[in-house]
Amino acid sequence: MSIKIHPAVDDGIRPATPGFAGGTLLCDCADNKVEVTISSQTAHNHVCGCSKCWKPAGSLFSQVAVVSSDAVKVTANADKLKVVDPSATIQRHACTGCGVHMYGRIEDKNHPFYGLDFVHTERSPQTGWAAPEFAAFVSSIIESGAPPEQMGAIRARLVELGLPPYDCLSPPLMDAIATHVAKSKTR
Ligand SMILES: [Zn+2]
Ligand SMILES: [Zn+2]
Repeated sequence: MSIKIHPAVDDGIRPATPGFAGGTLLCDCADNKVEVTISSQTAHNHVCGCSKCWKPAGSLFSQVAVVSSDAVKVTANADKLKVVDPSATIQRHACTGCGVHMYGRIEDKNHPFYGLDFVHTERSPQTGWAAPEFAAFVSSIIESGAPPEQMGAIRARLVELGLPPYDCLSPPLMDAIATHVAKSKTR
């Protein structure tokens, strides 16, 4: 039985193109597509097992990266966007036509990741985006229906793909959060 993680990684991970400076993301509507233009390369791309990130149909994981909010602009059909859950930390702006999340933004200025948007670069017709580097919130896929007895095989597949599995974020991102918390305590 072959384990499927996400269409963008199942056949191997495509490396980033050096000097890649961004592109567009398109929603899945047949026409009047929402278009988001990103004027920079992304960072910390990863597959995520949480139940909140947008996933393509049938996928266990989402694929999500961060980019400076300044580099993200909605350039077509902005009127189709709606925030999925206004009470969530990440305000995920989804297309009301097809359900694809076009960008997630943190509005809380005290949040460690304030200033960064979360984007799904698989929605882009361009290639060369930052490659996924790790798997976050792996255990959470059980909450979305993954059989617990398959977790060993799923983690092994992630390792094989070069995506170290974590049950929170990656160590550099957890360190960034803790650094922010430590700094805000000494203020
Ligand atoms: Zn759409
Ligand atoms: Zn997630």
